[in-house]
Amino acid sequence: MAGLLPVETALEQILDGAAPLDPEAVAIGEAAGRVLAGDVIAARAQPPFPASAMDGYAVRAADIAAAPAKLSLIGASIAGRRFEGHVGPGQAVRIFTGAPVPEGADTILIQENAQAGDGMVTAMVSVTAGRHIRRAGFDFKPGETVLLRGRVLDPAALSLAAATGRAALDVVRRPRVAILSTGSELVPPGVAPGPDQIVASNAYGVAALVRDAGGEALDLGIVADDEARLRAAIRDARASGADVVVTLGGASVGDHDLVAAALAAEGMAPGFWKIAMRPGKPLLFGRFGAVRVLGLPGNPVSSLVCGHVFLKPLVAALAGLPAAPALRDAVLAAPMKANDHRQDYVRAVARQGESLVATPFVTQDSSVLTTFAAANALIVRAPGAPAAEAGDPCAVLMLR
Ligand code: AMP
Ligand code: MG
Repeated sequence: MAGLLPVETALEQILDGAAPLDPEAVAIGEAAGRVLAGDVIAARAQPPFPASAMDGYAVRAADIAAAPAKLSLIGASIAGRRFEGHVGPGQAVRIFTGAPVPEGADTILIQENAQAGDGMVTAMVSVTAGRHIRRAGFDFKPGETVLLRGRVLDPAALSLAAATGRAALDVVRRPRVAILSTGSELVPPGVAPGPDQIVASNAYGVAALVRDAGGEALDLGIVADDEARLRAAIRDARASGADVVVTLGGASVGDHDLVAAALAAEGMAPGFWKIAMRPGKPLLFGRFGAVRVLGLPGNPVSSLVCGHVFLKPLVAALAGLPAAPALRDAVLAAPMKANDHRQDYVRAVARQGESLVATPFVTQDSSVLTTFAAANALIVRAPGAPAAEAGDPCAVLMLR
């Protein structure tokens, strides 16, 4: 069929101009998993003062060069309350982890190597200068860039950002994806379907996929195959503030597939419709200004496969997250027939042995979710790929 767009070209169009969204400030306690919109520059030093790394005694190394050596105990430095005085020759200060090292002391004698009593402490060993002292700025110094823009705020990054004293962080706004299920036959889970109805399932998997890719999903529910209602629902989707509008179903060429017409009537600038892919030929793309519209096929497996191939990379790009890993090399566990002009995404189980071995499922019907749920990979077969034997190389897209 003429005009079937290759998958790569379709993806290029969808991703054209897709850049991280504008930053927003979020409280540090809410920033887990978000993407930094700017570098984090330390405004303070960590530690802000020379600090003891151990419980023990702050001493002068020269005083205990010949151990055992007896010193007089003149005070204590505790985390949160420093010893204000000066440690002179023959003197020691009790010190605890994280406490400031007092002036005059140049090393820490750990308590395991000391005997204390009667206002005195005896060093049982000598210690070189600087032992167990964390110098000021040991971790980071003021003005130092500690985290780079684009960094995902994982646990370590969050603790580090907090340690710099930041109560709020500028992060990339999460792309908002409005999801509209279309079909007069659909009822939501929990509602008993009428005799000719089925349960609408696609929106749930697609929403989960959006969240996985760093986006926020907004389920706009089900709309019947009726142009006026579809148009109203599309207006609602646009009014929702979505960055991406996803329609599910209604985009093939049947008499009741009205989504493309409704989008056009609402003024969508058309991108493409129908791509050289299986499952998922009726994939629709267009734009309302900066808002991208992705019409995914209604068949449940097609919806999710197209979601993995097109929606996930789009959401990730808008979220400032790195693109999904490229295809992996694998080996076929079973023969495969020659492919036609459409790029095939074949549900499979991929197991890592000496190499990654992919076993395709026999059933590839695009309505069968059980095999999709059992699959952990899709074997990607290029248009026109010749027949392949077991043991031949193949490319797989890992699903999880
Ligand atoms: P369509 O693309 O609207 O022609 O739908 C193709 C097939 O997918 C039909 O069998 C629909 O009933 C089914 N379908 C469409 N939307 C959904 C949905 N949200 N959940 C489950 N099945 C759907
Ligand atoms: Mg339909």
